[in-house]
Order: sequence, then structure tokens, then C-alpha cells
Amino acid sequence: MSALLEVDAVDVSYGDAQALFGLSVTVAEGETLAVIGANGAGKSTLLKTVAGVVRPRRGDVRLDGASLSGVPAHRRVGRGIAMSPEGRRLFPSLTVEENLLVGAHSRRPGPWALDAVYALFPLVAERRARSAANLSGGEQQAVAIGRALMANPRLLLLDEVSLGLAPVVVAQLYAALPQITAQGTTVLVVEQDVHQALAVADRVQCLLEGRTVLEGPADRVDTAALSAAYFGVD
Ligand code: ATP
Repeated sequence: MSALLEVDAVDVSYGDAQALFGLSVTVAEGETLAVIGANGAGKSTLLKTVAGVVRPRRGDVRLDGASLSGVPAHRRVGRGIAMSPEGRRLFPSLTVEENLLVGAHSRRPGPWALDAVYALFPLVAERRARSAANLSGGEQQAVAIGRALMANPRLLLLDEVSLGLAPVVVAQLYAALPQITAQGTTVLVVEQDVHQALAVADRVQCLLEGRTVLEGPADRVDTAALSAAYFGVD
């Protein structure tokens, strides 16, 4: 498999506070990579760097070998990168369907459209005319994922799907992932829930304080070593 995404030795800072230290992440076309780590490990910063919301001080981000340096966030959607952000960030005064259509603004040709998203998440279809403010957390998360899919991304960035949701709801949301990857979409998911990450990903990469501390295939990773790496225990 060739690399679709290469994050190459990026340093990212917020003012004086450095969040990523020479971090490299590679995602092959068609694979699902889960980046895991505790609060503050730098997972969201990684996704924001790929999406173009924050700029690295050093290093480069490449899609299909082409540098995205200088490509603003809204243009990256057209290149095939769409993100479901932490906190979902729906427009509460718009309906569910209107929120989904926001994601279609810079859409590429591809399989995802309203009917496909509704087939993926039937509950979202039932709520299509409701205001997004009146949804449960799980329903909001499904709409946020659907909105990202509406752009027909080559690379889907999912930030903390599990945040604040009951385990059964998280499992329902992640159950949609195989149908998404079956369309050829590559997925980079960041997740605090190690168990879920191992269940859905081909590969996992664990961050601690902005650096990689462990990585490997999800079905062969040493879970004791992973727990130790996650908490920074030597
Ligand atoms: P969480 O699960 O809590 O979102 P995370 O692994 O996604 O954690 P980041 O949100 O990427 O971690 O944060 C990495 C580091 O950067 C943390 O030390 C955090 O305090 C800092 N940071 C993140 N966003 C900002 C910001 N806007 N301004 C200043 N510091 C920030």
C-alpha cells in the first residue's frame, strides 16, 4: 500500500507551548490508523495540523506525496481531507439535513450523498428535519461524521468519537466504520478509548506529550506495553 498521508517530523506550538515534537505519522491508502493517547497527548493537534487549522513550525504534511504547506484548510477539503472535529461543532440553529449539506460545500465526486449517509445512519434520517440542537450526543456525533463524509473525502479524520458518550452508543457509531472504509475511504481516528481503537483500527500509534511512544498492528500490539506507554510508565 502506498502512503496517502505523510506527516513528516512536525513541530507544532501554541505560542510558547509546544504540543508536537518532530512527530511523524503515515497512513496508507485504504487503512484505518488509530492515534491514541491521554488528555493533552497532542491527538487533536495532529488532526488540526493535517486539516490545516494549525500550521507546523517545522516539518511537512503531504497527501499523495504533494506538500500541503500553504494550502489553507478550506482547500484541503477539496483535496480530499475532511474532519469530524472534537465536540462535533454542528450548527445548532440549522436542521440535521442542513448541517449535512454544509459538508457538501466543497464536495468531490464520490459515493457519499444524503441518501448514502441516511442509509449509514438510519436514526439521522429519522431526525433529518429536526434542529441539530435537539439531538442526543450520539446523534450529533453521527451527523458530524455524516457531514464530513458529504465531502467525499479520501482521508476522513475523526476526533474523539467516544467523547462523553455511553459505550453502547460509541459501539454503534464505530459499527459504521467498515461501511465507510468499504467505499475506499482512508481513516485517521484519534481516540482516548484504547479498547475501541484496537477494535476498529488496522494500526495504532500511541502518543505521549507530543511524541510517539509505541506503534504497531492493532491485532499484534502488546496491550500491557500499550497501557504502560499510554500512561507514560517505563
Ligand atoms: P484531548 O483529548 O484533551 O483533546 P489531545 O491529545 O487531543 O487531548 P491536544 O488537544 O492536541 O491533545 O493538546 C496538546 C497540548 O497542546 C496540550 O498540552 C494542550 O494543553 C495544548 N493546547 C491545545 N490547544 C491549545 C491552544 N489552543 N492553546 C494553547 N495550548 C493548547
